[in-house]
Amino acid sequence: MSMKIFNTLSRTAEELVPLEGNHVRMYTCGPTVYNFAHIGNFRAYMFEDLLRRYLRFRGFRVTQVMNLTDVDDKTIRGCRAAGLPLREYTQKYKDAFFSDLKTLSIEPAEHYPAATDHVPAMIALIEKLLEKGFAYRSDDGSVYFSIAKFPGYGKLAHLDLSGLRAGARVAHDEYEKENLADFALWKAWDEEDGDVVWDAPWGRGRPGWHIECSAMSMHYLGDSFDLHTGGMDNIFPHHEDEIAQSEAATGKPWVKYWMHCAHLIVDGKKMSKSAGNFFTLRDILDRGWSGRDIRYVLLTTHYRQTLNFSFDSLEAAHAALQRVDEFTARLKDRAGQAAASAELPDWAREAVGKFTAALDDDLNISGGMAAVFDMIHAGNRAMDRDELSAGEARRTLDEMARLDRVLGFLTAAEDEIPAEVTALVEARKQARAEKNWAASDRIRDELAALGWTVKDTPEGPKLRKL
Ligand code: AMP
Ligand code: ZN
Repeated sequence: MSMKIFNTLSRTAEELVPLEGNHVRMYTCGPTVYNFAHIGNFRAYMFEDLLRRYLRFRGFRVTQVMNLTDVDDKTIRGCRAAGLPLREYTQKYKDAFFSDLKTLSIEPAEHYPAATDHVPAMIALIEKLLEKGFAYRSDDGSVYFSIAKFPGYGKLAHLDLSGLRAGARVAHDEYEKENLADFALWKAWDEEDGDVVWDAPWGRGRPGWHIECSAMSMHYLGDSFDLHTGGMDNIFPHHEDEIAQSEAATGKPWVKYWMHCAHLIVDGKKMSKSAGNFFTLRDILDRGWSGRDIRYVLLTTHYRQTLNFSFDSLEAAHAALQRVDEFTARLKDRAGQAAASAELPDWAREAVGKFTAALDDDLNISGGMAAVFDMIHAGNRAMDRDELSAGEARRTLDEMARLDRVLGFLTAAEDEIPAEVTALVEARKQARAEKNWAASDRIRDELAALGWTVKDTPEGPKLRKL
């Protein structure tokens, strides 16, 4: 059995075969740290998290690099407006980003290089492109990539280059297909850059956004690597330009598989900072939703399908997770202290097979989730009929934990029990020992008011969050 992924380069599903053994080297375009990331951005990072987790589940070794774009048009504009040094301005958003990743249980990548720490590697790459004749200096001291010199230009975005105007140039990091032109590798210093400036052999300035990713990816992953991902808005110009720079410099094929996720939209429009129709993760947490609810919403729509964000979808996610939690609690009660049995019940084995087959098929998460709910349905039936032993219940729990290495939302973080609640449980134990049932009932009500329920079992009282 093999894993298939949809390669943007070929526009077909291909079997994933790493360039070296079972080691998958992947680069994911990270955040531009000029503001808090919005949940549209997190859709992209969540898709990459699912990919990374599933690769590991399938036994691949993964080396993932996610860059932090901490110098580009947007960060410079932002720090100037805030009157702060670039580094200080971006640090706040870097910290927020890592804290948001934790909230969403996104597994950390192996490397998070910041662009400002790798400017010498970018300069070296530009020097190579100048030497080989793929790049040229403009009058103001900037350096541009000549797209006419690179025969493969347009292969990722499937561009029609027939209308290309020779010598047209674009200085901005972001531009539309209509402005297809030579793009900036290095931008000569101007007033707007303030004190954001580096020295290069051809003059002072700063790198363009695209060269940052080429330089950092090859620095950590080598001249050729397996996978490169991002949101589909990255296909053009960002990834197209990255390919041109990298392959022109090394003369080798650069990336074997490209994967792009579709957008998260609200009211029919792409969520973006510029459209002003965005929610940050914090906005949604403030409304009372958990990182786990949000993770469920972002993860469970297939990555190549548009995700229509709504608060109803969070409601549905919350209800689905409650079903998962009830099942888990029931299995735990049944398992007690038993060790796991050797065999997984048939219905669970079938569900896991279905789960794996679905995810092998270009991360078909809808099929994967259907398998999880099949398992819950069948497991509940088996328990209703008293056909599940304690050992089998334990074995099923272990299997859920294994699937959760991929999903990251099946097991709720163990709720921390507030001291006040622990004290009440102790007081209730005492009351029961004294056969003071009235006091015991009163304390039970107090616990309920705090959101906890207590159940008396042969092993003592058990607490559960309501
Ligand atoms: P940026 O910080 O703008 O460079 O974006 C970071 C990542 O988020 C990139 O991979 C983008 O493609 C992705 N992205 C931005 N907006 C959306 C959206 N509405 N839906 C999905 N991905 C997005
Ligand atoms: Zn990039």
